[in-house]
Amino acid sequence: MSRGNLTIEDGGFPVYKAAQIGKVNAMRRAKSLPDLETPIVPTKGQALFTTAEEMHNEPASCYNCQMYNSGAKTCSIHGPRIPIRKLQKDGIEYWPHCAAFLYGEPKAETSYSAQRDPDYTALKWINAPKPGLERSGANCGGCDQGDDCDHYSTDGKIEKWNSPTGFCRALQVTVACGDECALWWDDDILEWRQAIKIIGSQNGAS
Ligand code: SF4
Ligand code: SF4
Repeated sequence: MSRGNLTIEDGGFPVYKAAQIGKVNAMRRAKSLPDLETPIVPTKGQALFTTAEEMHNEPASCYNCQMYNSGAKTCSIHGPRIPIRKLQKDGIEYWPHCAAFLYGEPKAETSYSAQRDPDYTALKWINAPKPGLERSGANCGGCDQGDDCDHYSTDGKIEKWNSPTGFCRALQVTVACGDECALWWDDDILEWRQAIKIIGSQNGAS
């Protein structure tokens, strides 16, 4: 566009007219093209990152979360209507976990502080390596009897759970095998609605 045809308003900004709309639209299209910077990469703080050290090298589950009501087998932030306990189905044991996990001792006295929607806390049941473990649940690489996260990648020369560190594709940083965060995910979890249906059908056993 010719600068000579443009009206310049206070501050030096050009006022575009109908003749310049084609160029302005082309600029907007170019700026809207996806590029490598388009996806947002969360920080460790935004992902509620927890180190293996902080969790004493235990995988994360409701059973080592401060929000767990160990007597009632419920979660203090999900309310009394959601049963939260390990379950076994077809020889596989599943451990509950959500993105709001906070490492520590479960609560001996039952209390509730919220009724969070499990869809918004990513409540799920995690496939343990084998039944009857003292601890299982989520961590990055699946070490310490945990289940590995889909976002944890290694060079593939050894199993993920034997690797000391790996690359987290979600956070775009190197993490330790026993670390964990709220973005943990795997493709063989039990979704929370399935899990509570199974718990109901098993009459709360396990
Ligand atoms: S559902 Fe989440 S917040 Fe509640 S006990 Fe389990 S990990 Fe903790
Ligand atoms: S590998 Fe998974 S659990 Fe570990 S930091 Fe990345 S997203 Fe979180």
